[in-house]
Amino acid sequence: MAIPAAEIALVEGRPILVTCNTAFRRAGLNEVSVLPMLIAALSLRVEELAGAQRESIEFPIAFGDVIDRRYFQATLARSAQDGPHNFVLMLVDHTAQHHTERSLRREMTTDSLTGLPNRQGFGDLIETVMAAGQAHAVLVVDLNRFGRLNACMGSLVADELLITVARRLKGALRSRDSIGRIGGNEFGVLMMIDSGGDEAHVLAERIERALAAPFRLTDFEVNVEGSIGIAFGADQDGDAEELIRHAQFAVKQTKSAGRTQVYHPQAFTRARAQFAMETALRHAIEREELHLAYQPICDLTTGQVVSFEALARWRDAEGREHFPSDFIPVAEESGLIVPLGRWAIDQALAQLTEWDRRTGGHCGIRMSVNVSAIQLQRDVIPDVIGQTLSRTGLSGDRLMLELTESAIVGDPDRVTGIMEALKTLGTTIAMDDFGTGYSSMAYLQRLPIDVLKIDRSFVSGMLADRDKIAIVRAVLGLAQALGMKTTAEGIETVELGQTLAALGCTYGQGYVYARPLDPDAAWAMIAAQA
Ligand code: C2E
Ligand code: CA
Ligand code: CA
Repeated sequence: MAIPAAEIALVEGRPILVTCNTAFRRAGLNEVSVLPMLIAALSLRVEELAGAQRESIEFPIAFGDVIDRRYFQATLARSAQDGPHNFVLMLVDHTAQHHTERSLRREMTTDSLTGLPNRQGFGDLIETVMAAGQAHAVLVVDLNRFGRLNACMGSLVADELLITVARRLKGALRSRDSIGRIGGNEFGVLMMIDSGGDEAHVLAERIERALAAPFRLTDFEVNVEGSIGIAFGADQDGDAEELIRHAQFAVKQTKSAGRTQVYHPQAFTRARAQFAMETALRHAIEREELHLAYQPICDLTTGQVVSFEALARWRDAEGREHFPSDFIPVAEESGLIVPLGRWAIDQALAQLTEWDRRTGGHCGIRMSVNVSAIQLQRDVIPDVIGQTLSRTGLSGDRLMLELTESAIVGDPDRVTGIMEALKTLGTTIAMDDFGTGYSSMAYLQRLPIDVLKIDRSFVSGMLADRDKIAIVRAVLGLAQALGMKTTAEGIETVELGQTLAALGCTYGQGYVYARPLDPDAAWAMIAAQA
């Protein structure tokens, strides 16, 4: 098929059509409704070529009205035979291709299940509103427990539910608001703000009410609960995607707070700082930037060091020292406590082996390692410890594990099993921070606990506080009755140590004996009493 072509001449600075071929005519390009537009589109280009050294130039041309718009790729070349002001124009019609691209784009911005704009399309909507300077807010509606429903009922039912939810949500909106499906179980609502922030809450309530009634699907009836996060456009100078993310962040906050939450930058900053710390901690574990400090635990009657407690320390790339109270919670929340905990056990036992080697036998002390409740839930601690013990050749009684009461609260039966497995390995078990949690007497009696560690909060300042003395006495009595030993934490004065010894406490730990020490200083204490 011939390409539409025409001869163009530049006459008094304006392009005119000299002749054209049949294809040009058949394409209707010389019609009175079209030709002037085409010529107008050409005028600058023809001048450009006339003044240039080149033989030809190529450029896109679009003309027509909004409904009947046509798209061409044009090639304009100098005419070989005729004068310097004569040109040949060739046009390749791209209109069909252009339409395909447009409908493809529409498809790319539409969720095929609900027919609503998808995340991309919803973002486009927000951008239009942002560009227009109209006050707006984004509400993200998250369907709780949707994943479980999907798993239990199958994706067909889940799809049907999503379609029905979309319809109800649409019904709850005002005419100027729009809605999109921005994730598997997440819808986004873009609302115009006319009078103020209350409007968003009113709409959120309407959405909640719309979702409240049970959904009658073909084969099931289900109840759906939505959590709603709101982010106001006025608070942002970012882009659409950021606004959506902020509303999603607010949804996350509904897990710990109420059903509808408004995005607050401070909470976001805090979460981001946590996340940054998590990333840094992950690297620290990989690059082995953590180390252990060792704090002696002494026999209160003889004053001898009986063990060291291994306490994690983290010096980051900038040389800042972080303390466990900052990074252990982050490690627990992120699951990093599993590799961190394994590392601590490994490192502590490697250190003990080294001290044994230097002594030329049993160095006379044991090692205490902290095991967090989360670590106990997520890792297979008895296996990990069994392997480390056999690798180092240490006997189990050299290791004391410090667990907290919160470890037992979650799943007492499972933890009892784990503790028994640990006892089989020969390790001793201490109940850390005793008195701060919710130990039930029943469990305390049943569990294979060797030592109760009385929390620092009861010990420090005890001499001046009758209530604290009473608690400490009670714990000591309880331990004795159950055949357990006791360690008092946080002893900062000689007098306090003596009093605790007199009250029958077995061991003591605190700054008065030593702060957590580096390995060399710890070894010096061991060597001194050998
Ligand atoms: P914790 O097990 O109760 O450890 C005792 C904490 O009290 C240590 O804080 C220690 O430095 C501090 N301390 C000892 N004696 C005194 C004293 O006389 N006065 C005062 N004011 N403080 C004293 P640290 O090292 O900051 O550790 C805090 C907590 O972090 C530990 O509390 C423990 O629960 C946790 N932790 C530390 N290392 C690890 C670890 O490797 N794994 C796990 N899961 N937790 C760890
Ligand atoms: Ca401890
Ligand atoms: Ca403690």
